[in-house]
Amino acid sequence: MISVEEALEKVLSYVEVLEPERKPILDCLGQVLAEDVYSTIDIPPLDNSAMDGYALRAKDIRGASESSPRYLVVVGEVAAGSLPAQEVKPGTAIRIMTGAPLPEGADAVVRFEDTDEVNRKLSGGDLSHIGILCQVKKGSDVRGRGEDIAKGDLILKKGKVLRPQEIGVLASLGRSTALVIRRPIVAILATGDELIGVDQPLAPGKIHASNNYTIAAEVSRYGGIPKILGIGRDSVQSLTKKIYEGLDADMLITSGGVSKGDYDIVKNVLAEHGEVGFWTVCMKPGKPLAFGVIRKTEGGKEKKVPHLGLPGNPVSSMVTFEQFARPAILKMMGKKILAKPAIRAIIEDDVVDTDGRRLFVRVSVTRRGGQYYASVTGPQGSGILTSMAKANGLAVIPENSKGVKAGDMVEVQMLDWGEEQGDVKKLPVVSIVGKSQSGKTVLMEQLIAEFKRRGYKVAALKHGRGGMEIDQPGKDSWRFAQAGSDAVLISSPDKLAFIKNVDRDLDIEEILPTVGSEFDIVLVEGFRKSKIPKIEVHRKELGDGLLCSSGELSAIVTDGSLDTDIPQLPWGDTAKVADFIEKNFLLKSQGSASLPPMKGKV
Ligand code: AMP
Ligand code: MG
Repeated sequence: MISVEEALEKVLSYVEVLEPERKPILDCLGQVLAEDVYSTIDIPPLDNSAMDGYALRAKDIRGASESSPRYLVVVGEVAAGSLPAQEVKPGTAIRIMTGAPLPEGADAVVRFEDTDEVNRKLSGGDLSHIGILCQVKKGSDVRGRGEDIAKGDLILKKGKVLRPQEIGVLASLGRSTALVIRRPIVAILATGDELIGVDQPLAPGKIHASNNYTIAAEVSRYGGIPKILGIGRDSVQSLTKKIYEGLDADMLITSGGVSKGDYDIVKNVLAEHGEVGFWTVCMKPGKPLAFGVIRKTEGGKEKKVPHLGLPGNPVSSMVTFEQFARPAILKMMGKKILAKPAIRAIIEDDVVDTDGRRLFVRVSVTRRGGQYYASVTGPQGSGILTSMAKANGLAVIPENSKGVKAGDMVEVQMLDWGEEQGDVKKLPVVSIVGKSQSGKTVLMEQLIAEFKRRGYKVAALKHGRGGMEIDQPGKDSWRFAQAGSDAVLISSPDKLAFIKNVDRDLDIEEILPTVGSEFDIVLVEGFRKSKIPKIEVHRKELGDGLLCSSGELSAIVTDGSLDTDIPQLPWGDTAKVADFIEKNFLLKSQGSASLPPMKGKV
């Protein structure tokens, strides 16, 4: 059996970023830009008005107010799209519309609402003069030339995923086309004698071939172009013919015919025309998976089309599509973020993992009171596609975990969130705070030992006010620092230390990235002003007052009892404190044993 990660790595190693193509900008939504885009123009191209009003000289209306208006001679009018025919000389103004170029001589615009225009019109007066009712600064309501984009600037970088706003920016630069990585064409083939088309009436023993539609819709969702080849029958002739129809695609996805005891036809046909490996992946649903390449000759050259053979059960094919086909399509499109965003959620049902594989449980995720909850969407049979229709996430229950209990924290892949959203599943960090002499350090020691005992990888962080003992005068590391190096690393067979010079007390958010992602939890002593979850240690003998306000605390560890809504945990019972942290901040223990090497030819 191979792990999900190994299978993904292998699949990705067989797909390449596709070549760029130039096409109309409106067809580029969601594609990756393959060129740096510089501006050849200023935007806006001229100083212009941000309001409907009067263009004037700020100097001329200094001191103007409703009780003491300044009167100017109106010498003309300018609308958006035309150029001013007059210039604003001292004591004059030009009526101006939003977007119209600012006339020569003017340096500000005053909105209609701040003039006597309406009253003037009501009282039958003409607009040869205008009363200005407020003073404004130079530049007021003027949009400066090049204030958005300056000529020559790099506006969009290669690699950018084009969203509606980037398409708009390209349009404003006067570009009707863009160079983008082309979308992959994905050929899709269902296999099985029991399958009939959606437009055909059901006959005994037959079912509608839904997988083609699910997969085609997924391909489109992730930016590929689906090419449905239809249904291949469980015969060499039929399958060979269909597979050849798919060879002008960038990838072939089949569903069905990969499980043990099934006809070995898919395997035989593929082996004949390329290489194929059958994997058992440590996941459920979706254990059997075929992966290989089909050879074809194109312009006298041999090319290889990657083939992914998904299991036939509708849920299995969708879950394996999400884990393997989706990242492959994104890679071909030139995207860099391939992982589905994952969150941490409290699972609301017990889930049993009987055979040690990684479970992908269909869940419906809701957010209540700042916390995500995941509830299982009914029976989880791999043929029950409605369990997928009710779901917006896949809870990932680690292999060898035996399952989870309702109330446990789990990782959930969010099916409807875009990859660009990034991972929101951060390294869990909990800080132990408290007045001096409250026993913070003792609790830290006990918690570290307790989490180690429970099998977690722990990092501990101490905020030291004074110097650092590690940086001893006279030692080589100290001498390197004295010589001016900005950071010193000391490595020995059993330890690595990293000492970096900083010019101020760092925030915890700045420190955490250096901890790395290999740990399951970071226990912090101090940093009480930070926003990380905090547990305060309270001792009766130090008085009733707390160091932190109740809104800042997740729990209190105390040897007394306090009048507060915050959860209170007994001082001296480290297991209870660890339970609390585990339940509220940690994922169910990974416990991932080393996995046996993978089988298969590819
Ligand atoms: P297989 O992987 O071919 O053994 O198929 C496993 C199960 O999935 C069988 O019950 C098939 O009938 C079903 N199945 C296979 N292909 C499809 C499809 N395109 N749409 C719906 N169900 C399918
Ligand atoms: Mg079949």
